[in-house]
Amino acid sequence: MNTNEKKKIAILGSTGSIGTQALQVIEEHPDLYEAYVLTANNRVELLIEQARRFMPEAVVIANEKKYEILREALADLPIKVYAGDDALCQIVREKPVSMVLTAMVGFAGLKPTISAIEAGKSIALANKETLVVAGELINRLANDRHVDIIPVDSEHSAIFQCLAGEISPIEKIILTASGGPFRTFTREQLAAVTKAQALKHPNWTMGAKITIDSASMMNKGFEVIEAKWLFGVEPEQIQVVVHPQSIVHSAVQFADGAVKAQLGVPDMRVPIQYAFSYPLRLHSSFERLDLFKTSTLTFEEPDTERFHNLALAYEALRKGGNMPCIVNAANEVVNRAFLDDRIGFLQMSDVIAATMQKATFIKEPTYEDYLQTDAEARRIAGGFVGEY
Ligand code: NDP
Ligand code: MG
Repeated sequence: MNTNEKKKIAILGSTGSIGTQALQVIEEHPDLYEAYVLTANNRVELLIEQARRFMPEAVVIANEKKYEILREALADLPIKVYAGDDALCQIVREKPVSMVLTAMVGFAGLKPTISAIEAGKSIALANKETLVVAGELINRLANDRHVDIIPVDSEHSAIFQCLAGEISPIEKIILTASGGPFRTFTREQLAAVTKAQALKHPNWTMGAKITIDSASMMNKGFEVIEAKWLFGVEPEQIQVVVHPQSIVHSAVQFADGAVKAQLGVPDMRVPIQYAFSYPLRLHSSFERLDLFKTSTLTFEEPDTERFHNLALAYEALRKGGNMPCIVNAANEVVNRAFLDDRIGFLQMSDVIAATMQKATFIKEPTYEDYLQTDAEARRIAGGFVGEY
């Protein structure tokens, strides 16, 4: 194939869990994909290594203090080197970029995603916080610009795959959840869990933030919100089902009662590759599902008493406006505080709930409102954390 036909992909957050797996996908298909832009925040050494290996057109380090190290290390190569948040927003607009994989973590993903959509780039969306914070705005922009947003999150990729070829409406989404490392813990046990325990996810190896969110089930709450914006369903149509084996990645039920599910071993490279290759499927060398080896698939109802975050996410989704943005900001604060041993596991939900009560509610937020809400909710949540 002519190299000009390669899909040029900008990976925002190439040094992270999703980013490094995306590079593995690109390595599997060097004739089809090219890492055109690589970016990181702090891990400059890994970014240098990736740049030397994949020879992208440009690299961006968000943390400007690391710019000199990066520039010097790549001085012998024809790779453009930039730093700072604005550079991230600029680089995704570059003409040859055809797809942007949003694999950075947290609220920081919002601005570059908006920038990429405005420039008409296809989005492979891993950064779920973008849709949690501003799903309505993102959908409106994507519709205006006729931009595809293809989900990378395994559950949403599963739903997306179940919908391929369907034109009838969804009756219900069955969103599976592993239940995380504390699925069977009592509230008393949960009160005493450590970050080391929380960082050990039973089925997936992911970045620290999402691993804590998975343990607290805020990740699943966010995925409910993400599903609403990606698939246009109401909160009542999204059922969370705990499925500890993480083999059924999610399912869709239709008006005739038929349920379609997507299954596979837990491997994020599959949904990443599908987002790149959609609507095609490419051969991969990844492990195949062996149902005899798995043998049992089990399903349980989630417990929102023990995992209150799930209830809070539904509440925020029903309330609408900037409430999911408030929850996201408060969650980023408590997630960090838990990782820094400043608060306990159960206190995370308490701070989020209290922040939801106190932060200014805005029914129809603009982009500027989201920025202000994020800042205000962080201040409020930080204050509550300080009281512990
Ligand atoms: P990681 O923490 O492993 O990686 C995050 C990446 O983003 C790193 O490259 C990091 O750079 C960069 N980054 C972090 N903060 C900033 C910032 N402020 N500005 C610019 N770049 C930044 O996260 P994951 O890969 O686990 O997750 C990425 C996103 O994908 C999250 O939104 C997560 O919810 C979602 N996701 C992840 C899944 C997974 O399996 N990991 C599954 C489904 C969704 P550096 O390395 O320099 O810190
Ligand atoms: Mg997921």
